[in-house]
Amino acid sequence: MRYQRPKGTADILPGDSEKWQYVEETARQVFKTYRFKEIRTPIFENFEVFSRSAGDTSDIVTKEMYDFHDKGDRHITLRPEGTAGVVRAFVENKLYGPQVLKPYKVYYMGPMFRYERPQSGRLREFHQLGVEAFGSESAALDVEVIAMGFNLLKKFGLNDLKLVINTLGDQQTRDDYRQALIDYLEPHFEELSDDSKARLHKNPLRVLDSKAPEDQKFVADAPSILDYLTPEAKAHFEEAKALLTALEIPFEIDATMVRGLDYYNHTIFEIMTNSKSLGQGYTTICAGGRYNGLVKELGGPETSGVGFGLGVERLLVLMDAEKIAFPTDDRLDVYVVGIGDAANATTLKLVQAVRDAGLTAERDYLDRKPKAQFKSADRLNARYTMTIGDSELENEVVNLKSMATGEETQVAMADVFNHVEQVLAAK
Ligand code: ATP
Ligand code: MG
Repeated sequence: MRYQRPKGTADILPGDSEKWQYVEETARQVFKTYRFKEIRTPIFENFEVFSRSAGDTSDIVTKEMYDFHDKGDRHITLRPEGTAGVVRAFVENKLYGPQVLKPYKVYYMGPMFRYERPQSGRLREFHQLGVEAFGSESAALDVEVIAMGFNLLKKFGLNDLKLVINTLGDQQTRDDYRQALIDYLEPHFEELSDDSKARLHKNPLRVLDSKAPEDQKFVADAPSILDYLTPEAKAHFEEAKALLTALEIPFEIDATMVRGLDYYNHTIFEIMTNSKSLGQGYTTICAGGRYNGLVKELGGPETSGVGFGLGVERLLVLMDAEKIAFPTDDRLDVYVVGIGDAANATTLKLVQAVRDAGLTAERDYLDRKPKAQFKSADRLNARYTMTIGDSELENEVVNLKSMATGEETQVAMADVFNHVEQVLAAK
C-alpha cells in the first residue's frame, strides 16, 4: 500500500510554509490598519448554510461541494467559501445588535474545499484570505474593501494588476435585466450549453459566467446590465467609481462580469493578473462585492454586507513567477558543540538557556565528532558556537566563538545561564 495525499490537495513543507506565514502575517497587519478583526468559524457547516434554496445555480453549490452525511445522519458540507459561514455566525451570535459598532468588520483565513479538476492554481483543498463588513450601505465601504484588497496585493510586490468592477444593481435592476437577458437568449436556446439551458430561466446571469465556448459567443452582444440600473443603483455605482478615482485606483468596467455565487448585488469586483504562471489570459486572484440580501436569507435582520476572498495558492504561484523575494528568518544564534558523553546534559541545558532568552539554538543529537559539529554550525550559518568539553565542564566555562570574526573567548557558564543576551551583545 502506497499512501498518497488525496487528489487536489497539497503538503505545505518547510521552505514553503515560511511563505505562507509571511503572507498571513502581512495580511493580518494590513487588515489591522483597516480595523478588521479576525473571526474563526467551523471548517464544516450544515449543508443548508451553503445551499439555501433549490434555485441556487452556481457551480460552487450545484457541482463543487464536498458534502456528506455524518454518523448522526446530519448533512454536512466542508466549506467551499468563507462568506456564508461568517454570515451564519454573524446572525447566530446576533452581531447586528445595538451594542455592536457598525460597520462590523471581520477577516478570516483558512482552507476551503471544492470538488474541481485540479490544475495550476486550482485545487480541491485551497486557502482563502477574506474580509466581510456588515451594516453599511455606503459606497465608501465598497471602495474601502476594494482598496484593502488592492493594497494588500501591492504590499506583496505585485504591480501588474487589473481591477475590474461591475454592478449587479438592486432587486428591480435584477428583475428587469433578467427578463432582458432571457428575451435575448431564448431565440438561441438550442445553441446553448446544457448547463446554460438549465439555468436560463432560473438565473440567466449564470450564462454570462459560463466557460463553455458555445455560450461565450452570446456574451459579447448581450444586453448590458448598466442599461437597466434603477436611479438608486446607478447612484451607488457612480459613487463607487468616483471614490475609486479619488483614491487613484485605476479600474475597468466589465458589464458582463457576474460572480460565482448567487447572492451578490450592487458593486462586484475582481482583481486580476495577466501572469502566464496561472495560464493564458487574465486570472482572478481576489474577488468580491456587496451582498445585501444574505444576512436576511440566513435568518437575520435586513443587513448589508460587502467583502472579498483572495486565493492564497494563486497569490503564491504569482509571487514565485514574478520572482518576488520572501523575507526569510532562518537565523541560528548559537550552535552548542558538546565534546564527550559527560557534556551531554550541560549541552542540553545550554541550548535551553539560549532558547529561554528568545534566541535560537541547535546542538548535535547524532554523536557526531567535534569537527562534524562545527561543520553543521557552519552550514546552518550559526552566529556563535559555544563549545564544552571536559576542561570547560571542570572550570564551569564555555568557549564562545563568533563565526563572523573568528574571535574566541571564555565565558562563565553561569553568565550564559543567567543573561546570555548580554554575553552575546558584548561580543
Ligand atoms: P474561478 O472562476 O477561477 O473558478 P471563482 O469565481 O470560483 O473562480 P471565488 O469563489 O470568487 O472564485 O473565490 C475567490 C478566489 O479564490 C478566486 O479568485 C481564486 O483566487 C480562489 N479560488 C477559487 N477556487 C479555487 C481553487 N479551486 N483552487 C485555488 N484557488 C481557488
Ligand atoms: Mg470556480
